[in-house]
Amino acid sequence: MKHRNLGMSRPITRRDFISGFAVAISGSMAWRWSEARTASSAYPPVLTGMRGSHEGSFEVAHAMRNGAQWEDPEDTGEQYDLVVVGGGLSGLAAAWYFREAKPEARVLILENHDDFGGHAKRNEFWVGDRMVLSHGGTENIQDLRRYDAAGRRLLKSIGIDVARYPEFHDTSVYGSRNLGTSVFLCKESFGRDHLLVGDGKPSWREYFARTPLSETAQQQLIALHESDTDYLKGLAQKEKIGFLQKTSYERYLQETVGIGEEAVAYLWRSTTWATGLDSISAWVAAGEGWPGTAGLGVDDAFETGAVPNEESLFCQFPDGNATIARLIVRALAPGVAPGNTVDDIVATRFDYGALDSANSRARVRLNSTVVNVSHRGDPNSANDVEVTYVLDGRAFRVRGDRCVLACYNASIPYICGELPAEQKKSLSQAVRAPLIYTNVLLSNWNALARLGVRYARCPNSYFETIRLTDPLNIGGYRHSSAPDQPVVLRMSRAPLDPELRGQPIVDQWRAGRAELLTTTFETFEMKIRDQLGRMFRDGGFDSSRDIAAITVNRWPHGYAFGHDPDTGQVAYMLDELPPERSPWIAARKPFGRIAIANSDATADAMTEGAFRAAHLAIESLVG
Ligand SMILES: Cc1cc2nc3c(=O)[nH]c(=O)nc-3n(C[C@H](O)[C@H](O)[C@H](O)COP(=O)(O)OP(=O)(O)OC[C@H]3O[C@@H](n4cnc5c(N)ncnc54)[C@H](O)[C@@H]3O)c2cc1C
Repeated sequence: MKHRNLGMSRPITRRDFISGFAVAISGSMAWRWSEARTASSAYPPVLTGMRGSHEGSFEVAHAMRNGAQWEDPEDTGEQYDLVVVGGGLSGLAAAWYFREAKPEARVLILENHDDFGGHAKRNEFWVGDRMVLSHGGTENIQDLRRYDAAGRRLLKSIGIDVARYPEFHDTSVYGSRNLGTSVFLCKESFGRDHLLVGDGKPSWREYFARTPLSETAQQQLIALHESDTDYLKGLAQKEKIGFLQKTSYERYLQETVGIGEEAVAYLWRSTTWATGLDSISAWVAAGEGWPGTAGLGVDDAFETGAVPNEESLFCQFPDGNATIARLIVRALAPGVAPGNTVDDIVATRFDYGALDSANSRARVRLNSTVVNVSHRGDPNSANDVEVTYVLDGRAFRVRGDRCVLACYNASIPYICGELPAEQKKSLSQAVRAPLIYTNVLLSNWNALARLGVRYARCPNSYFETIRLTDPLNIGGYRHSSAPDQPVVLRMSRAPLDPELRGQPIVDQWRAGRAELLTTTFETFEMKIRDQLGRMFRDGGFDSSRDIAAITVNRWPHGYAFGHDPDTGQVAYMLDELPPERSPWIAARKPFGRIAIANSDATADAMTEGAFRAAHLAIESLVG
């Protein structure tokens, strides 16, 4: 690999923060580049390089897991009505629901990262005086129907009306240029690099004829895409559903549909659910409308659930659900940012110095890892809970009348040693799926416009999906509207080792997490430059010239899922699983003055699951 050709030696914005280059300046921003530059250390959204679970955020928790203890913490003398451990969407929602029930309550949120929001993280780039936003993790409200009444109430109260989404979304930017979806086949898996633009155009036959795939694989894929065969003909609806739920999509393709390894490799995907086709059921595939499921006749079964099909039920902001996190924080602690609508929040700079203000009834304390939570006295009769956290290498103690653990279920047994042994066992069974969302700031998207690409699926490449950020314009924020303007390209990867395919999914996730924490930024950068250069070369893309900044958001503890020990797969239809296969229900049982939130508590990877867990926790504490 010749690094120089990829531009590895060129300065980009990564370990530090920002670089400017000559582009047209447009849009009026609530704050300016010069301020971003000076404020980067105090304003984490502008930090680039390795983000997500950044260095400094997890070391104390890992030391705690390995048995470290912090004796004699300094007592801050603070007493709160509620202390929340974890400032992700669940912890923030817990604070919000608590304040909804007790408007005068004093709340402290302790978060081990340098920013709040958990996965719902804002990545903010600057090019001259132009702000370019993307989401570091949580992207959107995928389907409002999945939010329960309490979740909808929260969204509405902070100012979100999903029906307004079409107002923000300028479909003409990519639509008028006919930018569409594509598939990139890499030479390592398919013999030569090939970018296939325009799904199935002009026909599947001509589409596949352009690929390096063998004649046999082409015929199998053409048949799969063109026909709406019912591959389970003869089975009753209920039997079909039972079969699809028990069978991985990979096995369904191989054994039921009868296609070979090469065609399966073309269809391979792993980032949608953070699992490969070996660990996702054919039932989920049918819900997603993946190839080979159209003729099964089971669509009715998904009527109330999985597929978002009405635009007004979907909503997205330029920094993803970080807008939700920011709206909640501003509602809790109005001193952190001016304004009071969703329109004025996106371009607004938060005053991080005001997050933990003694003048506020709700405080967010960052860089603070909680290492111990215990009742003062017998959990059945204690009046409060002591919470110990480590900040800058020193241990401190605060007290709360109540405490919500909105961190990760698997870490709770280490934090809260007084929990019953059975509950600790249930908590330990939660394994979150690792994911990487990388934001690459491009100085322009001319090459993609020339090639007609806004999204690419890249089976078996290092990054599996590549997508231009959606053109969303809100308040003072303006997305790139022409190819010569800067834009963020999002690249996603599920770190799953092909050697472990077919193993229980939790083992694959654990291995992926280890890979994530040992992969250097330089490796990510090299992979990004190499892949983009190979994909878009024919459009004139030059990795060394066109990449202006990179932020790698690694999420070792990403999606919260239920997983089924019988099939080794991600579990689905959680409500129908018996309690012995739903350990998260026993795990979230309140204990004295302590309740457990976070998305593990509902085994639901989505924001609505995080909200529901928060609401359940607060209900258990305040009724
Ligand atoms: C890459 C990615 C993309 C996603 N996209 C979507 C999407 O588009 N739509 C959607 O609805 N959902 C999406 N999700 C899921 C959604 O983000 C989650 O459901 C939700 O944000 C989880 O919130 P949480 O508070 O439970 O967990 P987290 O976001 O993980 O927050 C928990 C917080 O607790 C902190 N913490 C842990 N231990 C401690 C400790 N000891 N002391 C202090 N703090 C601690 C963690 O650092 C973290 O910040 C996505 C998730 C990921 C990873």
